[in-house]
Amino acid sequence: MKDLYAELGIDEQIYSFGEEALKDLKERFEKIDETAEYNQLKVVSAMQECRVSEACLLGTTGYGYNDIGRDTLEEVYAKIFKTEAALVRPQITCGTHALALALMSNLRPGDELLSPVGKPYDTLEEVIGIRPSRGSLAEYGISYRQVDFLSNGEFDLEGIREAINEKTRLVTIQRSKGYEMRKTLSVERIGELIAFIKGIKEDVICLVDNCYGEFVQRIEPSQVGADIVVGSLIKNPGGGLAPIGGYLAGKKECIENAAVRLTSPGLGKEVGASLDVLRSLYQGLFLAPTVTAAALKGAVFAANLYQKLGYTAVPDAAEERYDIIQSIRLEKPEALMAFCKGIQAAAPVDGFVTPEPWDMPGYDAQVIMAAGAFVSGSSIELSADGPMKEPYAVYFQGGLTFPHAKLGMLKSLQELKNAGILKLS
Ligand SMILES: *Cc1c(COP(=O)(O)O)cnc(C)c1O
Repeated sequence: MKDLYAELGIDEQIYSFGEEALKDLKERFEKIDETAEYNQLKVVSAMQECRVSEACLLGTTGYGYNDIGRDTLEEVYAKIFKTEAALVRPQITCGTHALALALMSNLRPGDELLSPVGKPYDTLEEVIGIRPSRGSLAEYGISYRQVDFLSNGEFDLEGIREAINEKTRLVTIQRSKGYEMRKTLSVERIGELIAFIKGIKEDVICLVDNCYGEFVQRIEPSQVGADIVVGSLIKNPGGGLAPIGGYLAGKKECIENAAVRLTSPGLGKEVGASLDVLRSLYQGLFLAPTVTAAALKGAVFAANLYQKLGYTAVPDAAEERYDIIQSIRLEKPEALMAFCKGIQAAAPVDGFVTPEPWDMPGYDAQVIMAAGAFVSGSSIELSADGPMKEPYAVYFQGGLTFPHAKLGMLKSLQELKNAGILKLS
Protein backbone atom coordinates (compact mmCIF):
# COMPACT_ATOMS: atom_id res chain seq x y z
CA MET A 1 0.00 0.00 0.00
CA LYS A 2 2.73 2.43 1.01
CA ASP A 3 4.52 1.80 -2.27
CA LEU A 4 1.42 2.69 -4.27
CA TYR A 5 0.98 5.87 -2.27
CA ALA A 6 4.65 6.62 -2.87
CA GLU A 7 4.10 6.22 -6.61
CA LEU A 8 1.30 8.78 -6.29
CA GLY A 9 3.69 11.17 -4.61
CA ILE A 10 2.70 10.64 -0.96
CA ASP A 11 5.78 10.34 1.26
CA GLU A 12 5.99 8.02 4.23
CA GLN A 13 5.58 10.75 6.81
CA ILE A 14 2.31 12.02 5.30
CA TYR A 15 1.03 8.47 4.87
CA SER A 16 1.69 7.57 8.51
CA PHE A 17 0.14 10.82 9.70
CA GLY A 18 -3.01 9.89 7.79
CA GLU A 19 -3.13 6.35 9.16
CA GLU A 20 -2.76 7.70 12.69
CA ALA A 21 -5.70 10.07 12.21
CA LEU A 22 -7.85 7.29 10.75
CA LYS A 23 -7.45 5.07 13.82
CA ASP A 24 -9.72 7.32 15.87
CA LEU A 25 -12.47 7.50 13.28
CA LYS A 26 -13.85 3.97 13.27
CA GLU A 27 -16.94 4.73 15.35
CA ARG A 28 -17.69 7.93 13.44
CA PHE A 29 -17.55 6.02 10.19
CA GLU A 30 -19.86 3.30 11.51
CA LYS A 31 -22.50 5.89 12.34
CA ILE A 32 -22.20 7.39 8.87
CA ASP A 33 -22.65 3.91 7.38
CA GLU A 34 -25.81 3.34 9.44
CA THR A 35 -27.36 6.53 8.08
CA ALA A 36 -26.42 5.43 4.57
CA GLU A 37 -28.09 2.08 5.18
CA TYR A 38 -31.29 3.78 6.36
CA ASN A 39 -31.36 6.10 3.37
CA GLN A 40 -30.53 3.31 0.94
CA LEU A 41 -33.61 1.43 2.12
CA LYS A 42 -35.68 4.59 1.82
CA VAL A 43 -34.58 5.08 -1.81
CA VAL A 44 -35.08 1.45 -2.85
CA SER A 45 -38.50 1.27 -1.29
CA ALA A 46 -39.56 4.54 -2.97
CA MET A 47 -38.45 3.13 -6.33
CA GLN A 48 -40.37 -0.07 -5.72
CA GLU A 49 -43.52 1.67 -4.50
CA CYS A 50 -43.51 3.85 -7.61
CA ARG A 51 -43.08 0.74 -9.76
CA VAL A 52 -39.95 1.91 -11.54
CA SER A 53 -39.66 -0.29 -14.62
CA GLU A 54 -37.15 -0.78 -17.37
CA ALA A 55 -39.23 1.49 -19.58
CA CYS A 56 -38.68 4.31 -17.06
CA LEU A 57 -34.99 4.30 -17.87
CA LEU A 58 -35.59 5.23 -21.50
CA GLY A 59 -36.07 8.84 -22.48
CA THR A 60 -38.25 10.84 -24.80
CA THR A 61 -37.50 13.46 -27.45
CA GLY A 62 -39.32 16.50 -28.81
CA TYR A 63 -42.09 17.77 -26.54
CA GLY A 64 -41.68 14.86 -24.18
CA TYR A 65 -45.40 14.18 -23.73
CA ASN A 66 -46.20 11.13 -21.60
CA ASP A 67 -42.63 10.70 -20.46
CA ILE A 68 -43.22 7.85 -18.03
CA GLY A 69 -39.62 7.81 -16.81
CA ARG A 70 -39.61 11.54 -16.04
CA ASP A 71 -43.00 11.46 -14.33
CA THR A 72 -42.13 8.38 -12.27
CA LEU A 73 -38.80 9.85 -11.20
CA GLU A 74 -40.68 12.89 -9.90
CA GLU A 75 -42.95 10.56 -7.93
CA VAL A 76 -39.90 8.82 -6.49
CA TYR A 77 -38.42 12.14 -5.37
CA ALA A 78 -41.74 13.15 -3.81
CA LYS A 79 -41.84 9.85 -1.93
CA ILE A 80 -38.28 10.19 -0.64
CA PHE A 81 -38.80 13.79 0.47
CA LYS A 82 -42.32 13.01 1.76
CA THR A 83 -43.89 15.76 -0.32
CA GLU A 84 -46.99 16.07 -2.49
CA ALA A 85 -45.03 16.69 -5.66
CA ALA A 86 -41.61 17.17 -7.21
CA LEU A 87 -40.05 18.70 -10.29
CA VAL A 88 -36.85 16.89 -11.33
CA ARG A 89 -35.55 17.99 -14.69
CA PRO A 90 -32.44 18.09 -16.84
CA GLN A 91 -33.76 21.47 -18.07
CA ILE A 92 -32.96 22.86 -14.62
CA THR A 93 -29.34 23.72 -15.32
CA CYS A 94 -27.89 23.97 -11.82
CA GLY A 95 -28.66 24.66 -8.17
CA THR A 96 -28.86 28.41 -8.63
CA HIS A 97 -31.35 27.92 -11.45
CA ALA A 98 -33.46 25.59 -9.29
CA LEU A 99 -33.52 28.16 -6.49
CA ALA A 100 -34.22 31.06 -8.85
CA LEU A 101 -37.06 29.04 -10.34
CA ALA A 102 -38.57 28.32 -6.93
CA LEU A 103 -38.35 31.97 -5.91
CA MET A 104 -39.46 33.61 -9.15
CA SER A 105 -42.42 31.30 -9.56
CA ASN A 106 -43.73 31.58 -6.03
CA LEU A 107 -43.28 35.33 -5.51
CA ARG A 108 -45.32 38.08 -7.17
CA PRO A 109 -44.66 41.81 -7.55
CA GLY A 110 -45.17 43.54 -4.21
CA ASP A 111 -44.21 40.45 -2.20
CA GLU A 112 -41.25 40.35 0.15
CA LEU A 113 -38.66 37.63 0.53
CA LEU A 114 -37.01 37.07 3.90
CA SER A 115 -33.79 35.25 4.73
CA PRO A 116 -33.73 34.69 8.50
CA VAL A 117 -30.34 32.94 8.35
CA GLY A 118 -28.06 35.70 7.12
CA LYS A 119 -26.65 36.22 3.69
CA PRO A 120 -27.65 33.56 1.17
CA TYR A 121 -25.26 31.76 -1.16
CA ASP A 122 -23.20 34.11 -3.35
CA THR A 123 -24.96 33.38 -6.64
CA LEU A 124 -28.34 34.19 -5.09
CA GLU A 125 -27.29 37.78 -4.49
CA GLU A 126 -27.87 38.44 -8.16
CA VAL A 127 -31.07 36.39 -8.27
CA ILE A 128 -32.52 38.44 -5.42
CA GLY A 129 -30.94 41.71 -6.52
CA ILE A 130 -28.80 42.26 -3.42
CA ARG A 131 -26.20 43.03 -6.06
CA PRO A 132 -28.07 44.82 -8.86
CA SER A 133 -28.49 42.42 -11.72
CA ARG A 134 -30.48 42.02 -14.91
CA GLY A 135 -33.66 40.03 -14.34
CA SER A 136 -33.38 39.96 -10.54
CA LEU A 137 -36.38 39.70 -8.22
CA ALA A 138 -35.78 43.35 -7.33
CA GLU A 139 -36.42 44.33 -10.97
CA TYR A 140 -39.84 42.69 -10.67
CA GLY A 141 -40.71 44.69 -7.56
CA ILE A 142 -40.02 41.93 -5.05
CA SER A 143 -38.30 43.28 -1.97
CA TYR A 144 -35.86 41.48 0.28
CA ARG A 145 -35.06 41.48 3.96
CA GLN A 146 -32.41 39.62 5.85
CA VAL A 147 -31.92 38.83 9.52
CA ASP A 148 -28.44 37.73 10.51
CA PHE A 149 -27.56 35.15 13.13
CA LEU A 150 -26.79 36.44 16.61
CA SER A 151 -23.10 36.50 17.46
CA ASN A 152 -23.52 33.29 19.48
CA GLY A 153 -24.79 31.48 16.38
CA GLU A 154 -28.44 31.38 17.50
CA PHE A 155 -31.39 32.58 15.42
CA ASP A 156 -32.27 36.21 16.08
CA LEU A 157 -35.88 35.38 16.93
CA GLU A 158 -36.81 38.93 17.91
CA GLY A 159 -35.28 40.27 14.71
CA ILE A 160 -37.16 37.69 12.68
CA ARG A 161 -40.44 38.54 14.40
CA GLU A 162 -39.92 42.22 13.58
CA ALA A 163 -38.93 41.51 9.99
CA ILE A 164 -42.07 39.54 9.14
CA ASN A 165 -44.77 41.86 7.84
CA GLU A 166 -47.88 41.82 5.65
CA LYS A 167 -45.73 41.66 2.49
CA THR A 168 -43.64 38.67 3.62
CA ARG A 169 -44.62 35.88 1.27
CA LEU A 170 -41.66 33.52 1.26
CA VAL A 171 -38.89 32.70 3.69
CA THR A 172 -35.71 31.15 2.34
CA ILE A 173 -33.58 29.07 4.64
CA GLN A 174 -30.19 27.86 3.54
CA ARG A 175 -29.25 24.58 5.22
CA SER A 176 -25.59 24.58 4.31
CA LYS A 177 -23.13 27.27 5.30
CA GLY A 178 -22.00 27.96 1.72
CA TYR A 179 -19.05 30.35 1.79
CA GLU A 180 -19.90 31.67 5.26
CA MET A 181 -18.07 30.52 8.38
CA ARG A 182 -21.38 29.97 10.24
CA LYS A 183 -22.61 26.52 11.12
CA THR A 184 -24.73 24.36 8.86
CA LEU A 185 -28.26 23.87 10.16
CA SER A 186 -29.49 20.46 11.20
CA VAL A 187 -32.90 19.44 9.90
CA GLU A 188 -34.15 19.64 13.49
CA ARG A 189 -33.04 23.26 13.87
CA ILE A 190 -34.63 24.12 10.53
CA GLY A 191 -37.85 22.59 11.87
CA GLU A 192 -37.73 24.80 14.97
CA LEU A 193 -37.17 27.89 12.85
CA ILE A 194 -40.05 27.02 10.51
CA ALA A 195 -42.38 26.39 13.47
CA PHE A 196 -41.46 29.78 14.91
CA ILE A 197 -42.04 31.55 11.59
CA LYS A 198 -45.35 29.82 10.90
CA GLY A 199 -46.42 30.70 14.42
CA ILE A 200 -46.09 34.35 13.42
CA LYS A 201 -47.46 34.05 9.89
CA GLU A 202 -49.08 30.77 9.04
CA ASP A 203 -49.40 31.10 5.28
CA VAL A 204 -45.81 32.12 4.56
CA ILE A 205 -44.02 29.72 2.19
CA CYS A 206 -40.90 28.20 3.74
CA LEU A 207 -38.26 27.21 1.20
CA VAL A 208 -35.11 25.33 2.13
CA ASP A 209 -31.98 25.47 -0.01
CA ASN A 210 -31.05 21.85 0.58
CA CYS A 211 -27.82 21.88 -1.45
CA TYR A 212 -25.22 19.48 -0.04
CA GLY A 213 -27.58 18.32 2.71
CA GLU A 214 -29.49 15.48 1.04
CA PHE A 215 -29.08 12.06 2.72
CA VAL A 216 -26.72 13.37 5.38
CA GLN A 217 -29.41 12.78 8.00
CA ARG A 218 -32.31 10.36 8.05
CA ILE A 219 -34.90 13.08 7.55
CA GLU A 220 -35.10 15.97 5.10
CA PRO A 221 -36.35 19.52 5.75
CA SER A 222 -39.64 18.74 3.99
CA GLN A 223 -40.41 16.45 6.95
CA VAL A 224 -40.21 19.31 9.43
CA GLY A 225 -42.47 21.82 7.74
CA ALA A 226 -40.61 23.11 4.67
CA ASP A 227 -43.02 23.80 1.81
CA ILE A 228 -40.32 23.49 -0.86
CA VAL A 229 -36.85 21.91 -0.77
CA VAL A 230 -34.46 22.62 -3.59
CA GLY A 231 -31.15 21.21 -4.74
CA SER A 232 -28.77 20.33 -7.52
CA LEU A 233 -28.38 16.92 -9.14
CA ILE A 234 -24.64 17.37 -9.57
CA LYS A 235 -24.41 17.38 -5.78
CA ASN A 236 -25.65 14.69 -3.36
CA PRO A 237 -28.90 13.38 -4.93
CA GLY A 238 -27.32 12.73 -8.33
CA GLY A 239 -24.92 10.27 -6.74
CA GLY A 240 -22.14 11.36 -9.09
CA LEU A 241 -23.90 9.87 -12.12
CA ALA A 242 -26.44 12.58 -12.96
CA PRO A 243 -24.83 14.65 -15.72
CA ILE A 244 -27.11 17.69 -15.19
CA GLY A 245 -30.26 18.75 -13.40
CA GLY A 246 -31.97 20.18 -10.39
CA TYR A 247 -34.93 19.26 -8.23
CA LEU A 248 -37.70 20.91 -6.28
CA ALA A 249 -39.90 18.87 -3.95
CA GLY A 250 -42.80 20.27 -2.00
CA LYS A 251 -46.43 21.30 -1.87
CA LYS A 252 -48.32 20.67 -5.10
CA GLU A 253 -49.21 24.34 -5.46
CA CYS A 254 -45.58 25.48 -5.15
CA ILE A 255 -44.32 22.84 -7.57
CA GLU A 256 -47.02 23.66 -10.14
CA ASN A 257 -45.99 27.31 -9.93
CA ALA A 258 -42.40 26.30 -10.64
CA ALA A 259 -43.40 23.99 -13.50
CA VAL A 260 -45.30 26.66 -15.41
CA ARG A 261 -42.41 29.04 -14.94
CA LEU A 262 -39.85 26.45 -16.14
CA THR A 263 -41.82 25.59 -19.26
CA SER A 264 -44.83 27.79 -19.93
CA PRO A 265 -48.23 28.66 -18.51
CA GLY A 266 -50.61 26.01 -19.77
CA LEU A 267 -47.85 23.46 -20.33
CA GLY A 268 -46.30 23.01 -16.89
CA LYS A 269 -45.05 19.52 -16.13
CA GLU A 270 -46.53 17.99 -19.29
CA VAL A 271 -43.57 18.87 -21.50
CA GLY A 272 -39.81 18.57 -21.22
CA ALA A 273 -38.17 15.65 -22.99
CA SER A 274 -35.75 13.71 -20.84
CA LEU A 275 -33.53 12.70 -23.78
CA ASP A 276 -30.97 10.15 -22.59
CA VAL A 277 -30.39 11.14 -18.98
CA LEU A 278 -33.01 9.18 -17.04
CA ARG A 279 -30.94 6.07 -16.44
CA SER A 280 -28.21 8.11 -14.78
CA LEU A 281 -30.70 10.14 -12.74
CA TYR A 282 -32.25 6.93 -11.39
CA GLN A 283 -28.99 5.08 -10.87
CA GLY A 284 -27.37 8.15 -9.34
CA LEU A 285 -30.26 8.54 -6.91
CA PHE A 286 -29.90 4.87 -6.04
CA LEU A 287 -26.20 5.40 -5.24
CA ALA A 288 -26.67 8.78 -3.55
CA PRO A 289 -26.89 7.54 0.08
CA THR A 290 -23.56 5.69 -0.05
CA VAL A 291 -21.85 8.32 -2.17
CA THR A 292 -22.95 10.95 0.35
CA ALA A 293 -21.53 8.73 3.10
CA ALA A 294 -18.18 8.52 1.31
CA ALA A 295 -18.07 12.28 1.01
CA LEU A 296 -18.95 12.67 4.70
CA LYS A 297 -16.14 10.35 5.72
CA GLY A 298 -13.74 12.38 3.60
CA ALA A 299 -14.90 15.56 5.34
CA VAL A 300 -14.49 14.07 8.82
CA PHE A 301 -11.04 12.74 7.90
CA ALA A 302 -10.02 16.18 6.59
CA ALA A 303 -11.17 17.96 9.75
CA ASN A 304 -9.19 15.53 11.88
CA LEU A 305 -6.01 15.81 9.84
CA TYR A 306 -5.95 19.59 9.67
CA GLN A 307 -7.04 20.17 13.23
CA LYS A 308 -4.16 18.02 14.43
CA LEU A 309 -1.92 20.46 12.56
CA GLY A 310 -3.37 23.47 14.35
CA TYR A 311 -5.75 24.75 11.66
CA THR A 312 -9.33 25.77 12.40
CA ALA A 313 -11.77 23.35 10.82
CA VAL A 314 -15.48 24.11 10.42
CA PRO A 315 -17.15 21.84 11.41
CA ASP A 316 -14.48 20.72 13.86
CA ALA A 317 -13.16 17.17 14.08
CA ALA A 318 -15.73 15.98 16.61
CA GLU A 319 -18.90 17.76 15.48
CA GLU A 320 -22.08 16.19 14.09
CA ARG A 321 -22.40 16.73 10.32
CA TYR A 322 -25.37 18.27 8.54
CA ASP A 323 -23.86 18.69 5.11
CA ILE A 324 -20.85 17.30 3.23
CA ILE A 325 -18.84 20.51 3.20
CA GLN A 326 -15.67 20.88 5.19
CA SER A 327 -14.02 24.18 5.50
CA ILE A 328 -10.53 24.82 6.76
CA ARG A 329 -9.06 28.24 7.38
CA LEU A 330 -5.73 28.13 5.64
CA GLU A 331 -4.90 31.78 6.51
CA LYS A 332 -2.55 32.32 3.55
CA PRO A 333 -3.16 32.52 -0.20
CA GLU A 334 -0.21 30.17 -0.88
CA ALA A 335 -1.74 27.57 1.43
CA LEU A 336 -5.14 27.77 -0.29
CA MET A 337 -3.47 27.36 -3.68
CA ALA A 338 -1.33 24.43 -2.49
CA PHE A 339 -4.38 22.70 -1.02
CA CYS A 340 -6.28 22.99 -4.29
CA LYS A 341 -3.24 21.83 -6.23
CA GLY A 342 -3.19 18.67 -4.11
CA ILE A 343 -6.88 17.94 -4.66
CA GLN A 344 -6.44 18.46 -8.39
CA ALA A 345 -3.43 16.15 -8.43
CA ALA A 346 -5.60 13.38 -6.97
CA ALA A 347 -8.21 13.63 -9.73
CA PRO A 348 -8.91 10.79 -12.17
CA VAL A 349 -9.65 13.35 -14.92
CA ASP A 350 -7.41 16.38 -15.51
CA GLY A 351 -5.09 15.27 -12.73
CA PHE A 352 -2.18 16.84 -14.60
CA VAL A 353 -3.41 20.44 -14.54
CA THR A 354 -2.71 23.15 -11.95
CA PRO A 355 -5.68 25.20 -10.76
CA GLU A 356 -5.42 29.02 -10.88
CA PRO A 357 -7.67 31.69 -9.30
CA TRP A 358 -10.19 33.23 -11.76
CA ASP A 359 -13.10 35.67 -11.94
CA MET A 360 -15.99 33.29 -11.77
CA PRO A 361 -19.39 34.68 -12.89
CA GLY A 362 -21.68 35.24 -9.93
CA TYR A 363 -18.91 35.63 -7.34
CA ASP A 364 -17.47 38.92 -6.06
CA ALA A 365 -13.88 37.78 -5.30
CA GLN A 366 -11.60 35.61 -7.41
CA VAL A 367 -12.20 31.93 -6.79
CA ILE A 368 -9.79 29.03 -6.99
CA MET A 369 -11.25 25.63 -7.74
CA ALA A 370 -9.87 22.16 -7.95
CA ALA A 371 -11.96 19.62 -9.74
CA GLY A 372 -11.12 16.77 -11.99
CA ALA A 373 -14.55 15.36 -12.39
CA PHE A 374 -16.29 12.97 -14.74
CA VAL A 375 -19.17 15.45 -14.74
CA SER A 376 -17.88 18.96 -15.30
CA GLY A 377 -18.21 21.10 -12.18
CA SER A 378 -19.74 18.30 -10.16
CA SER A 379 -19.12 18.92 -6.49
CA ILE A 380 -20.25 15.54 -5.22
CA GLU A 381 -17.02 14.42 -6.85
CA LEU A 382 -13.84 15.30 -4.99
CA SER A 383 -13.48 19.04 -5.29
CA ALA A 384 -12.19 22.02 -3.38
CA ASP A 385 -12.73 25.69 -3.82
CA GLY A 386 -12.35 28.93 -2.00
CA PRO A 387 -12.57 32.65 -2.53
CA MET A 388 -9.19 34.40 -2.65
CA LYS A 389 -9.90 36.57 0.37
CA GLU A 390 -9.41 36.45 4.14
CA PRO A 391 -9.31 34.02 5.91
CA TYR A 392 -8.34 32.00 2.83
CA ALA A 393 -10.72 29.26 3.81
CA VAL A 394 -10.89 26.26 1.55
CA TYR A 395 -14.21 24.50 1.11
CA PHE A 396 -13.68 20.86 0.43
CA GLN A 397 -16.40 18.46 -0.59
CA GLY A 398 -17.22 15.23 -2.27
CA GLY A 399 -15.47 12.07 -3.14
CA LEU A 400 -17.45 9.35 -4.84
CA THR A 401 -15.52 6.81 -2.78
CA PHE A 402 -13.77 7.23 0.54
CA PRO A 403 -10.41 5.91 -0.72
CA HIS A 404 -10.43 8.66 -3.31
CA ALA A 405 -11.32 11.37 -0.78
CA LYS A 406 -8.50 10.04 1.41
CA LEU A 407 -6.00 10.26 -1.44
CA GLY A 408 -7.07 13.83 -2.10
CA MET A 409 -6.52 14.84 1.52
CA LEU A 410 -3.10 13.23 1.65
CA LYS A 411 -2.16 14.94 -1.62
CA SER A 412 -3.25 18.30 -0.19
CA LEU A 413 -1.03 17.77 2.86
CA GLN A 414 1.83 16.74 0.63
CA GLU A 415 1.49 19.92 -1.45
CA LEU A 416 1.49 22.06 1.69
CA LYS A 417 4.61 20.24 2.82
CA ASN A 418 6.30 20.55 -0.57
CA ALA A 419 5.57 24.29 -0.59
CA GLY A 420 7.34 24.62 2.76
CA ILE A 421 4.13 25.74 4.53
CA LEU A 422 3.68 22.61 6.59
CA LYS A 423 6.29 21.11 8.86
CA LEU A 424 5.49 17.74 10.41
CA SER A 425 7.73 16.97 13.35
C1 LIG B 1 -24.07 24.87 -4.74
C2 LIG B 1 -25.03 25.69 -4.00
C3 LIG B 1 -25.92 26.54 -4.64
C4 LIG B 1 -25.90 26.80 -6.13
O1 LIG B 1 -25.74 25.70 -6.89
P1 LIG B 1 -25.02 25.76 -8.32
O2 LIG B 1 -25.33 24.42 -8.84
O3 LIG B 1 -23.56 25.98 -8.08
O4 LIG B 1 -25.65 26.85 -9.09
C5 LIG B 1 -26.83 27.22 -3.87
N1 LIG B 1 -26.83 27.11 -2.55
C6 LIG B 1 -25.96 26.33 -1.89
C7 LIG B 1 -26.00 26.26 -0.40
C8 LIG B 1 -25.03 25.59 -2.59
O5 LIG B 1 -24.19 24.82 -1.95
